[in-house]
Amino acid sequence: MAEEKKRAVLYAPNPPSQEQEEQFLCFLREKYGPNVTLDWERRSADGFRLEVDMDVYDWTVSGKLRQMREMLSELPGGRRDVIPLVKEAVQNWTPRILAEEMGTVLSVGDGIATVGKLDDVAYGEILMFEDGVRGMVQDLREHETGCILFDSGDSVCQGSLVRRTGKTAGVPVGEALIGRVVDALGAPLDGQGRIATHEYRPIENPAPGILERGSVNRPLETGILAIDSMFPIGRGQRELIIGDRQTGKTAIALDTILNQRGKDVICIYVSIGQKASAVAQLATNLRKRGAMGYTIIVHASASDPAPLQYVAPYAGCAMGEYFMEQGKDVLIVYDDLSKHAIAYRTLSLLLNRSPGREAYPGDVFYLHSRLLERSAQLSEERGGGSMTALPIVETQAGDVSAYIPTNIISITDGQIFLESSLFFAGQRPAVNVGISVSRVGGDAQTKAMKSAAGAIRLDLAQYREMEVFTQFAGDLDETTARQLVYGQGLMQLLRQGQYQPLRQYEQVILLTAALRHALEAVPPKEMSAFAEELLEQFHWKRRDLCMRIESTGLLTDKDRDEIVSFARETAAQAARRRGW
Ligand code: ATP
Ligand code: MG
Repeated sequence: MAEEKKRAVLYAPNPPSQEQEEQFLCFLREKYGPNVTLDWERRSADGFRLEVDMDVYDWTVSGKLRQMREMLSELPGGRRDVIPLVKEAVQNWTPRILAEEMGTVLSVGDGIATVGKLDDVAYGEILMFEDGVRGMVQDLREHETGCILFDSGDSVCQGSLVRRTGKTAGVPVGEALIGRVVDALGAPLDGQGRIATHEYRPIENPAPGILERGSVNRPLETGILAIDSMFPIGRGQRELIIGDRQTGKTAIALDTILNQRGKDVICIYVSIGQKASAVAQLATNLRKRGAMGYTIIVHASASDPAPLQYVAPYAGCAMGEYFMEQGKDVLIVYDDLSKHAIAYRTLSLLLNRSPGREAYPGDVFYLHSRLLERSAQLSEERGGGSMTALPIVETQAGDVSAYIPTNIISITDGQIFLESSLFFAGQRPAVNVGISVSRVGGDAQTKAMKSAAGAIRLDLAQYREMEVFTQFAGDLDETTARQLVYGQGLMQLLRQGQYQPLRQYEQVILLTAALRHALEAVPPKEMSAFAEELLEQFHWKRRDLCMRIESTGLLTDKDRDEIVSFARETAAQAARRRGW
């Protein structure tokens, strides 16, 4: 069979000498077979450049510099000892024959570049544009490649050169990230200098398989009474926080992070499409309350290009996986995935993908399922680490049946539904007890919590029913009136301010006392203040009991009786003192 004919072009300021031409031909024949021809074209540059079809051998100065930049980028970031290495590399420069595939930009706009002629490019591969702008391949067509740009991309224009890197997108991972605020590609945003990490991980990674997973049976306490008592979250679980705008969604995630202090859980807060000022405030808050010591913030603001917003949660997830695989426990908050879906919709429409329901592309379900499936409780053999996810979704006018909410509800292991009417009525956190659920967390609740919380959901459901029913009734019989007061008291007890997480024993005491009707003497509107007073009394006068519950996670019958009698006594005293 005849060998294919190949034409090599040598771009150089001067024609090659006889000897040089021989050398080139020798090299080319070895590589491409005997039927190679070599032509010379004049190009003013300080060096020469050889192109054979798609392969480029660049010996120009700019080519060498690029090669060096690439070598440097392969080195782990933040290492001071890099500088002598660079000096040495510059001094002992020997051109490396670097086969590379180049293409040119056909069109660019809105953070999307269309690149022609890249035959072997892979989906998700990083492309390098001029001036160091990076992009990621998102669309493979017959004659062109669609690519999203991780930069505003002002320097990329029609005809710009593009180079394949053969790598997929990755972020630096490691302990050094803890306490830092980084962007979606892991670069620092907090002005505290470089981050000395030694490892990279691809942002996309397959989720752990069935055999690699263990069961969710350790609690991840939020410190919020309404959640820990009724919708317990286990380590490795995915629990959705869903509600309209300004209903306290972020507040719940933030309180949960604050409550992990001293519990050896690494927290990652991924903010997607939020105002930079809001995230700055959140970071200040975390720092002020000593939570930045175990927290990473990944931030892609509303003004960042859609591609950065799109990759941010995957980047945060990769950072979490690093710790999970070391057997540690991780909590990751995605705030919020509706904005993430919108960023992805923007990208998809710009890439000319056909729109489906609500103009989202067809694979928007996969967008979130592949992200959330990466949260897991790993089995003992895999080190027993876990990653708990708290995705947040914003609804419009409480509509949970919109496209993105229904998708994410079906992926997660439960949802905490926040309602604006409750929020405005002062019932905060505004958890709607009726439609919130935690599908796997029950096993993760401690025995003490389980026995203390007992029938609270049932009692609240009865109360809600009765409340609606009695709105129209004139006078009520005594039993109904008492039940109403009891329900109101419970609702008041579930009110909890921001930044005031409750310890496990505190929750057990409050629930045991309230559900066993030991606080009947307290009028509902005084309940919050009294609960605080009661806990203080327990802390001073029944310290052993508090510590016993906290350390063992058990509630013995004796302890339970003691809580009830002590609470009843304290309530009676308070009632006498204040004339309730
Ligand atoms: P957005 O839709 O803007 O993201 P969001 O649902 O995340 O809003 P937050 O920002 O968490 O809501 O809270 C809205 C406001 O309510 C904030 O000012 C916050 O301080 C307040 N808030 C939240 N939870 C509580 C609470 N338990 N007690 C008192 N105030 C609260
Ligand atoms: Mg928020």
